[in-house]
Amino acid sequence: MGGALGRAARSRETGDGISMATTVEDRVAAKVLQSYLGDKWQAGEGRGAALVNPTTGETVASASSQGLDLKAAFEYSRNVGGQALRKLTYAQRAELLGKIADALAGPREQWFEIARKNSGNTKADAAIDVDGSIGTLKYFAKIGAKLGDAHMLRDGGPMRLAKDPNFQGLHVGVPLDGVAVHINAFNFPAWGLWEKAAVSLLAGVPVFSKPATSTSWLAQEMVSAVIEAGILPEGALSILCGSPNDLLDHLRLGDVIAFTGSADTGERIRGHEHIGKQNIRVNLEADSLNSALLGPEAQPGSAEFNFFVREVVREMTSKTGQKCTAIRRVLVPASVATAATDAIAAALSKVVVGDPANAITNMGPVVNMPQRKTVEEGIARLKTQAAVAYAPENFAPLDADPARGAFVPPTLLKVKDSRQADVIHDVEVFGPVATVLPYATQDEAFALARRGGGSLAASVFSGDQAFLAEAAAALGTTHGRLMLIDASIGDSHPGHGIVLPSCMHGGPGRAGGGEELGGLHGLWFYHQRVAMQGSTGTLSKLAEQAADPRAE
Ligand code: NAP
Repeated sequence: MGGALGRAARSRETGDGISMATTVEDRVAAKVLQSYLGDKWQAGEGRGAALVNPTTGETVASASSQGLDLKAAFEYSRNVGGQALRKLTYAQRAELLGKIADALAGPREQWFEIARKNSGNTKADAAIDVDGSIGTLKYFAKIGAKLGDAHMLRDGGPMRLAKDPNFQGLHVGVPLDGVAVHINAFNFPAWGLWEKAAVSLLAGVPVFSKPATSTSWLAQEMVSAVIEAGILPEGALSILCGSPNDLLDHLRLGDVIAFTGSADTGERIRGHEHIGKQNIRVNLEADSLNSALLGPEAQPGSAEFNFFVREVVREMTSKTGQKCTAIRRVLVPASVATAATDAIAAALSKVVVGDPANAITNMGPVVNMPQRKTVEEGIARLKTQAAVAYAPENFAPLDADPARGAFVPPTLLKVKDSRQADVIHDVEVFGPVATVLPYATQDEAFALARRGGGSLAASVFSGDQAFLAEAAAALGTTHGRLMLIDASIGDSHPGHGIVLPSCMHGGPGRAGGGEELGGLHGLWFYHQRVAMQGSTGTLSKLAEQAADPRAE
């Protein structure tokens, strides 16, 4: 799987903490990222792992977590941060989220600059990450305020449980008294941090964030800005920069892990002996082979056909294809497969790949050289069952040295035989790569989409609403989100790959089986749901004190 390739690449990168393109001079000049633990900035031992500018290969920072006392940091978060947060009401905590959003909105250009230097993001890519995080914080500030001065949630109202009508039951959510460990992937250092933190802080659970080391600079600077602004109570927000070390060994009852990353790492976390024994609650957001499906009736030149082509190209190139939700499998009716492939290829040929500092660049590099190698290896695996339908000839990135930059050209493949191909449904190539799979019948199209083994998102493009309804039923069990696009919303939807805070994010099976966001529903992960049983009077009182997240 793609994750396995990713792990091999990472060990090459950080085996001695030095990336392949790094020089000693770069590393000496680079910023050392400290961790914020127990309300103190702390540096790990040694220089640790190098963070690079993927356009040039220069080292821009380094991070080490070696020797940091994570056990003590967790205790501080639980005892100081958790207690202070839980004294506040939901509405007060929502207000803090609004202040965080404001503090982050000011230096927005600075975040874009870091995203360019450490992630190779164009401005448009950085906006998805940075503005996505500010928007998510604002959203939770707004809907959290509606929970008012409560300290608990309720799920419905009291219900009669026995012959005696006075004996009743009520489901109540009590905020957890542990720490929320948020482990994030490299591709969204800002959004990954804040979409989790927003929900956790609103619930009253302190955040311990562990960004992916390779792009942790942005996360660290953002946390630093929020700490400096003095918005949160002490201990409410911590960040660990560098490898996770013994992080999982110190978790206990009341703590939770929200993980985003590859399926392989997710499996290791879930299978960790201590986590299993302690039954620590784990939410996994893992990798996913998402698809876009063009309806059987869509003809070249129709609105749905054009929207479909545009979306595939956008998903392949936005953030250089490094989105967990990106379209990897492109399902088209066999009768229009050539036309669809040609249209996608024509649009890809106009994409300018190069240094994101140049305003005409549409697509930057992938995150680093090891990741470039992983993507190239992934393409080679796809090529065992698919032919290249588009890749630029004599590829040369704009304003960049191809030997030092982590550039991969947009690459479209087309399977030789959709029924036989299996590697396409198994290998996640985390880059600007997608594969066209022609289908003969509607049932075959649904079966192909389901072969991703559980995906985060699929988009179906059709002008036939009966077909869209059938797709919803057929794909619902294997997907976390379905976009059903007819021409009336072709221009107004935010994009196949965009995660909205009001909608649930996550997917079954390979995608991890997790659920994040989904408006106030997301709060339940950070609460213990308790079945309270008592007299009518006692439970009515409890019900009055608890907020109903489903109330308007
Ligand atoms: P990764 O290699 O799995 O790493 C993810 C995070 O896990 C990093 O912070 C990493 O820290 C940490 N980690 C690694 N080993 C660990 C361990 N034994 N215990 C605790 N933490 C550990 O993934 P990635 O390469 O950063 O991200 C790309 C993958 O993420 C892709 O497969 C993509 O599909 C997936 N993704 C999924 C979603 C989603 O919402 N479903 C969103 C974005 C990305 P270090 O960096 O220090 O190793």
